[in-house]
Amino acid sequence: MARKKTKVETAAEKETKPVEYMEPRRSVAFIGSECHPFVKTGGLGDVMYALPKELAKMNCDVRVILPRYECIPWEYQEKMVYRGEFYMDLGNTGRNIYVGIMEYEEDGVVYDFIDNKEFFSGPKPYFNLIDDIPKFCLFSKAALAALNFLNWIPNIVHCHDWQAALVPVYLRTLFSDTPVGGARSILTIHNLRFQGIYDIKTIRYWTGLPDGVFDNPRLLGQDWLDANIMKGGLAFADRITTVSPNYAGEIQTPEYGETLDEHLRYHNCKLRGIVNGIDCDVWNPDTDPVLAANYNQKNAVKGKKKNKLALQKELGLEEDQNKYVIGLISRLTNQKGLDLVNAIVPQVLDEFTQIVVLGTGDRNYEDSFRYYENRFRGQFSACIQYDEARAHRIYAGVDSLLVPSRFEPCGLTQLNAMHYGTVPIVRETGGLKDTVEPYNQYTGSGNGFTFDRYESGLLLDAINRSKTLYFTEREYWDEMLIRDMNKDVSWGNSARQYRDLYMELTPW
Ligand code: ADP
Repeated sequence: MARKKTKVETAAEKETKPVEYMEPRRSVAFIGSECHPFVKTGGLGDVMYALPKELAKMNCDVRVILPRYECIPWEYQEKMVYRGEFYMDLGNTGRNIYVGIMEYEEDGVVYDFIDNKEFFSGPKPYFNLIDDIPKFCLFSKAALAALNFLNWIPNIVHCHDWQAALVPVYLRTLFSDTPVGGARSILTIHNLRFQGIYDIKTIRYWTGLPDGVFDNPRLLGQDWLDANIMKGGLAFADRITTVSPNYAGEIQTPEYGETLDEHLRYHNCKLRGIVNGIDCDVWNPDTDPVLAANYNQKNAVKGKKKNKLALQKELGLEEDQNKYVIGLISRLTNQKGLDLVNAIVPQVLDEFTQIVVLGTGDRNYEDSFRYYENRFRGQFSACIQYDEARAHRIYAGVDSLLVPSRFEPCGLTQLNAMHYGTVPIVRETGGLKDTVEPYNQYTGSGNGFTFDRYESGLLLDAINRSKTLYFTEREYWDEMLIRDMNKDVSWGNSARQYRDLYMELTPW
């Protein structure tokens, strides 16, 4: 019988063996107003879920702090554990306000929910600014007070959008002499359009911040009447990030700066862009449980055909795997370029082409898409709803996806699409420009079709170019589809850049 050899390590071998490198641990508090799966209205919710999870794998100690909205589904509410409560003053209200802390843990990430029934009630997270200003003043202050209360003092406080933009302001004012006051702060802009602008009197009343921050146009001062919460956050934060490098440049111009371009140019040395990723556990065509057929790079062409037929059946479209099916998954708002789409639908539709729209939002877009569904029965489907499972089936079943946005801080739908072997057709703006390389017929490179100026004729031209490739050179189309699936759109790379940023801010 052969003897099993056991290898004895020599001293020299021991010395040359690389020491396993453990990255220094950093603690980070994520503070924001939404997070999948508890509450989500857009891309912010996806980032608040996926990024902390990825950072936890990189030796970061992450806590996510969220409002405990009444609208969080009961299946999560019932799993939350009570961690404590305290009372806190709020601005000049003269009130002592209850703050409860409810905790939930998953995948190495701790979620702390700030509880107060009076402020966080209602069927959705956002209403109008009259309600939302007090809500997020309380939330931002309570988030910092909760960190002190829990005696969990992070190295970094990472805040998201205007709803948490008061955190860097509080950190350097009312909280500067408290334990959490030593933390460094980052403010990430997911969408600059929303800034939390309201009259100075109201914001002063709810925040209790000193007069100096309102009088100063470099801090919260917007004009003689209004204060701007986002502007204050940008001024006080140690670093500002946007969700793509291109958007970081764009918002310093009057066209995209939403009136803060000058303020952002002033702070541009602390501004940078890090592109978002997607959660490849949730978005994986090979394992996705809601698809008609799972597929991967090896059998994508066949797998997508099966999904196309199932989708056509589900939506009452003419069932034919040879039709070219174009998808659109979006909030139906002015930002998303829907007026361009509306203008060209009749020119795009022909006997070989179908369009599928999934989204909710502004009434005029909802109605115009319903109109097209009626007019082009069997060719156009308008799903006016928010339905995650259906979104997955559309990504899998369509050939291309439209993202013709007016502006787009990063955009996740084009990333989801590429990962599902669906070719994006995008406007060259914000993160769309960073993530979609235009198809080049001479070199056979690129992963989508793009157009630059905000004009319906250019969108139509991009769609026609995609159709030409699809119908006349299918082998090149199929190659692009595989290139798209091979593109790394996971969080790994982006999470590393955030981690590097945390290290840069805490170099000890
Ligand atoms: P934004 O944050 O501006 O809404 P993003 O492209 O960053 O846009 O993110 C949108 C996310 O929401 C994507 O994951 C997309 O699949 C999802 N989504 C948008 N509309 C719907 C809908 N009606 N049903 C299901 N998912 C949707």
